[in-house]
Amino acid sequence: RAKEKGQNIFCFYSQSLSHIISRKQMLEQHLHKAISRDELTLYYQPFIKLGKELKIVGAEALLRWNNKTFEDITATELIAVAEETGLIVPIGEWVLQKATADIASINPPRSFRIALNLSAQQFHNPNQLQTAILTALRESGLQPDQLELEITENNLLNLGAKTIHLLQWIKQLGIRLSIDDFGTGYSSLHYLQKQNFDLLKIDKSFIKDIHLKKSNRVLVDAIFAMSKTLGIEVIAEGIESKAEEEFLRQQNYGLAQGFRYSRPVPLEPFKILLDQQKERGYVRFPSSKDAP
Ligand code: C2E
Ligand code: MG
Ligand code: MG
Ligand code: MG
Repeated sequence: RAKEKGQNIFCFYSQSLSHIISRKQMLEQHLHKAISRDELTLYYQPFIKLGKELKIVGAEALLRWNNKTFEDITATELIAVAEETGLIVPIGEWVLQKATADIASINPPRSFRIALNLSAQQFHNPNQLQTAILTALRESGLQPDQLELEITENNLLNLGAKTIHLLQWIKQLGIRLSIDDFGTGYSSLHYLQKQNFDLLKIDKSFIKDIHLKKSNRVLVDAIFAMSKTLGIEVIAEGIESKAEEEFLRQQNYGLAQGFRYSRPVPLEPFKILLDQQKERGYVRFPSSKDAP
């Protein structure tokens, strides 16, 4: 009997394992063809300046995949597979080209910044990334300071000389550099100061219920104090409620990104928001009016 049971258990594990493997293999196969089949797209989520009125000062481009087999895939899972397979390099180049072309096509104000996420793997071949950046700027006509490159805090660990050189090249060109998911990794103050980062994006886990959680408040206050001294801008990611926004306002913490204002949306609805702002001078979000 015991043996029977054991066999059943074995079967169960082996079936579930092969299921996991086949989903991953299928994902890889489909993702390989995603660019050539025109299945990738970018959504845009605004960066908001919290003044008397709300103003869009930029946006983050976020990858989405239109594929019938993997309709429900999250960006996080998609990026993980892309990184494992090395597909993140061609996909990252596509993102650079597409985000700059998209944004140039909707005639943003001169001060508008388009931000996109870089993967650490894109640093492995500096020449290739440099060429992709220069091509994207040239073809779109955007100015270097309208482009912002986000690097997660964990990717900044153990930067080699080659990568430090590359970051310096990016800065010298006038492109803005930001640290993503700040607070979740281990960047030293030394790095922050030396690499001339322009922006810190505080991870949404520290923003959630900030008006209620003393531990989050203490950390966020410290980040703001530090960045002020270093002359670095800060964005709070993941603002969902009015109470969270109020906390930021009280502290004069001026930049926000989150579902309270807008989820990431396709280019067309994003253009409508920006056009509204051009006309009125500020923007109104349907969702934030009645949000808690
Ligand atoms: P991220 O760069 O930190 O992007 C912000 C994520 O937070 C987005 O998730 C966005 O939809 C989500 N978010 C924004 N506001 C809120 C909010 O108020 N509440 C909550 N709960 N979430 C909010 P998304 O689009 O699923 O992307 C997940 C991650 O995937 C990104 O995190 C980024 O690390 C990665 N990613 C997305 N697109 C790209 C890309 O083109 N290249 C690379 N290398 N990574 C990307
Ligand atoms: Mg990001
Ligand atoms: Mg983030
Ligand atoms: Mg993230």
